[in-house]
Amino acid sequence: MKVYLDYAATTPVKKDVLEEMLPYFNQHFGNPSSIHSYGRESKKAIDLARDRIANSLTAKPEEIFFTAGGSEADNWAIKGVAYALKNKGKHIITSKIEHHAVLHSCQHLEKEGFEVTYLDVDQYGMISLEDLKKAIKDTTILITIMYANNEIGTIQPIKEIAKIAKEKSIIFHTDAVQAYGNIDINAETLGADLISISAHKVYGPKGIGALYIKKGTKLQSILHGGAQEKRRRAGTEDLPSIVGFGKAAEIAINNLKEHNQHQLNFRDQLINKLMAKIPYTRLNGHPTKRLPGNVNLSFEFIEGESLLLSLDMVGIAGSSGSACTSGSLDPSHVLMAIGLTHEIAHGSLRLTIGDSTTQEEINYVVEHLPPIVERLRQMSPLYEKVKGEAKSV
Ligand SMILES: *Cc1c(COP(=O)(O)O)cnc(C)c1O
Repeated sequence: MKVYLDYAATTPVKKDVLEEMLPYFNQHFGNPSSIHSYGRESKKAIDLARDRIANSLTAKPEEIFFTAGGSEADNWAIKGVAYALKNKGKHIITSKIEHHAVLHSCQHLEKEGFEVTYLDVDQYGMISLEDLKKAIKDTTILITIMYANNEIGTIQPIKEIAKIAKEKSIIFHTDAVQAYGNIDINAETLGADLISISAHKVYGPKGIGALYIKKGTKLQSILHGGAQEKRRRAGTEDLPSIVGFGKAAEIAINNLKEHNQHQLNFRDQLINKLMAKIPYTRLNGHPTKRLPGNVNLSFEFIEGESLLLSLDMVGIAGSSGSACTSGSLDPSHVLMAIGLTHEIAHGSLRLTIGDSTTQEEINYVVEHLPPIVERLRQMSPLYEKVKGEAKSV
């Protein structure tokens, strides 16, 4: 049996999405900037996709700008604001648990003379609104806080953050890549000036995303060239991907409620059953304010990489944190920020649930994971010691 439970890393392209994309590779292939009928047809397809994505965010089509994914949207939002407002101030506020696209953009700006405050989070991965207020200076030009965390699923109080930013006339960006398609995002009432989203986390193709730019938001371009995207993001549009993104957005928003129910059911089954069966286990992330499809557990006395390999051998695909960190031996910056020790952070497993997850798959994981954890623990001298002590009490 093969069980994919890594939907936070990426999702498969849905059949209906793929079908809409295919003609745009070789039948309707015109350059959307061309005047002729080929070009006009492509332009029409992009307009439709933009409308669908705008609709999925309750935004205006003129506020949606296509990018080559979530990372580019984050880079653009952060560097774009920094460069546009550097004469006003050079201070940026973010959190310690952001995606690397945000953290590394901020670190890059620090090298260029910007000042960045990285807010702490509590044991559940929540930022404190009080800390945020205290961090604001006269020179603060941007607050960038993710909507929902990709590793531990914690959902931040985005509306409240937006309100604080607005009161101080500071631009607010949120990386909503994980929230999009899982949480109903209404750009009109949310209050964020900039919102990053990505197609491949919502059953669309990889390499395409968008930045929502609220009308009037000051932002410099980072890709210069042709006049595409209202002269704000140059480069011939990735037509098939944009078409696919539009379709994926439409499906995601139409299915949101059902999708949530489906995920919640399996998420809570996994959390409850695995925690009941496996001692010395903790749930990472917020118990309730968490993404409906996110399970993140730390098993004491084991090493996450060996766990992932053992799971892979029985066909279960999970993640040790974020796909970006795996391959390196450093524990996840998110798990460190919520206060886990190196040892416990290393024994962490993220399982994320998707559209095609079935009850059989959940049962399979509940059956196979506990004995694997137990077997790996048998190799830990520390575990033997703790078990011995527990017996002698
Ligand atoms: C996946 C992800 C990104 C990056 O998006 P890409 O389209 O893969 O570049 C950014 N932020 C978060 C929270 C993500 O989960």
